[in-house]
Amino acid sequence: MSGRVIIVSNRLPVTVTKREKRLHFTPSAGGLATGLASFYREQGGLWLGWPGLSAESLRGREEEIMSQLQHYSCRPVFLTQRQVENYYYGFSNKTLWPLFHYFLQYAIFDQKLWESYRRVNRLFCDAVLEVADKDSTIWVHDYQLLLLPALIRERLPEAKIGFFLHIPFPSFEIFRVLPWRADLLNGLLGADLVGFHTFDYARHFLSSVRRILGYEHNLGVITTERQLVKVDVFPMGIDFDRFAYSFERADVCHEVRRIRRRIGERKVILSVDRLDYTKGIAQRLKAFDLFLERYPEYKEKVVLILVAVPSRTRVEHYMLLKREVDELIGRINGRHGVLGWTPIWYLYRSLPFSTLAALYNLADIALVTPMRDGMNLIAKEYVATTPGDKGVLILSEMAGAAAELGEALIINPFDLNQMAEAMREAMEMPEEEQRDRNRIMKERLRRYTVHRWAEEFMERLDEIKELQRDFISRKLSPEVRETLLQDFVKARGAIEFLDYDGSLVPFASRPEKASPDAALRQLLRDLAHLPNNKVVLISGRPKETLEEWFGDLGLNLVAEHGVWIKEKGKDWQMLEALSEDWKEAIKPIMESFADRTPGAFVEEKRFSLVWHYRRADPELSNHRARELKDALLDITKNLDLLVLDGNKVIEVKPININKGRAARYFLEKGDYDFVLAIGDDWTDEDLFEVLPLYSYTIKVGFGVSRARFSVNSYREVRALLQEMVQRRKQGPGEGT
Ligand code: UDP
Repeated sequence: MSGRVIIVSNRLPVTVTKREKRLHFTPSAGGLATGLASFYREQGGLWLGWPGLSAESLRGREEEIMSQLQHYSCRPVFLTQRQVENYYYGFSNKTLWPLFHYFLQYAIFDQKLWESYRRVNRLFCDAVLEVADKDSTIWVHDYQLLLLPALIRERLPEAKIGFFLHIPFPSFEIFRVLPWRADLLNGLLGADLVGFHTFDYARHFLSSVRRILGYEHNLGVITTERQLVKVDVFPMGIDFDRFAYSFERADVCHEVRRIRRRIGERKVILSVDRLDYTKGIAQRLKAFDLFLERYPEYKEKVVLILVAVPSRTRVEHYMLLKREVDELIGRINGRHGVLGWTPIWYLYRSLPFSTLAALYNLADIALVTPMRDGMNLIAKEYVATTPGDKGVLILSEMAGAAAELGEALIINPFDLNQMAEAMREAMEMPEEEQRDRNRIMKERLRRYTVHRWAEEFMERLDEIKELQRDFISRKLSPEVRETLLQDFVKARGAIEFLDYDGSLVPFASRPEKASPDAALRQLLRDLAHLPNNKVVLISGRPKETLEEWFGDLGLNLVAEHGVWIKEKGKDWQMLEALSEDWKEAIKPIMESFADRTPGAFVEEKRFSLVWHYRRADPELSNHRARELKDALLDITKNLDLLVLDGNKVIEVKPININKGRAARYFLEKGDYDFVLAIGDDWTDEDLFEVLPLYSYTIKVGFGVSRARFSVNSYREVRALLQEMVQRRKQGPGEGT
């Protein structure tokens, strides 16, 4: 089906289980399934994922499963026992999960697990290709499928592909440790849109992309050789009404009464998590212990209900954690408990919604203190539930949710003292204050629900696709290229404005190294000697360099972005009189920034100053470049100076100099029916702007530009110029 929405995640939102040879299908009411329901179910979409049982145990019943799952708009990806072991329990949960949650000491790096991860990602890709086509919208979820976007992109270059990471993206210093870091980033960059829960995760991702792959970004848009990728923040919400109105449900009320009878009038502190080492359960217990010890007046007056949902029970660290938590609870209950009062009620199981919601309704305090958590929905669900807006959330600053729930009592989960004090503060907090805090948070949660989250992601995906379309339509197509060539052959008067660095040669690490090769010199000479044709080499370089490299080729030259002009057969002249006094004020600033940025240096031209940072550390120099630009803009405010942000350079020059002005000089002196301009950066935009509408303006590389067309690299430019020469020599009518 064309244009359908396909969701891909490791697990399907329906779990298949086998009891006495019969298959059972249980849909999950998880937040993600709720948020996405309107996309994949209501619009003829599909959800692809692993059904939760190994391929071996389902052998022979594949058809039955497929057809049953179809009722839920789901399609299974079957995984063998071994694949589950190596890809899911292995690479996903023993390598990526600990590393991305800053548990470096738990992460294992094993080539065999990586191979399996890669293979299973390919398997998912095959499954996608069975149902998707170029018009599909494919939304891939989470850390188990980091390679999938690029795999799909290879086969369906035009498809709309989104990716959302539900766990944190760690800082570069952590991420860099991964032996397969570049593969994973490249995998993600196959998507059109990559979403994260918080700004910090997005920032970490952008920084890793820059430092590991060398791609820059502009306001979160990364430009790779192949496409634009938007990186954005979408904090996942919850199904607000389901929790906020849960007290209206009979089953929930029943549960509330049942539990209340057992607890009596005691205050309730609630803690709910999957039993995972990232959740900080042991630390939380120790803090509770400390709280009881420090404030014994609360003994018998409070109960901590600790719900731990079994998770990944086959992974060693989870087994160890289980033992630690069991022992801690035993110890604390033994130490503080008295007849008739047990401080901690421990439930090691998954709860049905009615019980969970009842606990949210009952809890005076929710203790959500993960060491690291991508978002944490428990915190949001609790706040949404709080009846009469009463209740206190104690929330770890390490949870993604903390970015939105600033009115909670925010704590550092490594600081037991602070946690114990927060418990006391929560116990004592006046009801009015509780209401004030909760109302603000609730309003936010009511507005940005999981439905809104999913809608916004989809909207943003459409937007980036639009932006890309602009680029694609501007690509110099074979048809336009052919018309250009024919126009050139027919032209009575032709002129070409050619930028040098980045347009005719690649960038070199030091400017003096990019001297023209013999083939380029020959090409320019040939072009310049065609009848009725004028070539203007228009560059930011000093006139001495241009003279040395191109003085003998019969070209017209423009140096320093238009300060100097040399018409063919004449001497260098200045376009207009300019002062250079301003340099005294600017140069020391640039130099001091260069001193503090290893690899950066200042180049002085007659009428401009350039701060180069191509060879400097990308992170530091980008930071410095921004600082420098800021400083320069401030100083140059009242001088007629322009601060230009070029390709790894910051340049200051008089405002009345630009390539456009120089180009106009040439245009006014002749009559041209063919105009071509080729450039790659900022400074060429002035050139594109002044040319007549019928001109062929070409930008080299990706990026927002006034140019009508774009090509990928200087090689394409050279090939085009070469063909122009040949066609002209052949004369009209011969070349097709
Ligand atoms: N949850 C549940 N049953 C339980 C405990 C929790 O369905 O017994 C749900 C809870 O409502 C929440 C989710 O599990 O939506 C936990 O999400 P969270 O982001 O807090 O943690 P994760 O498990 O994704 O790390």
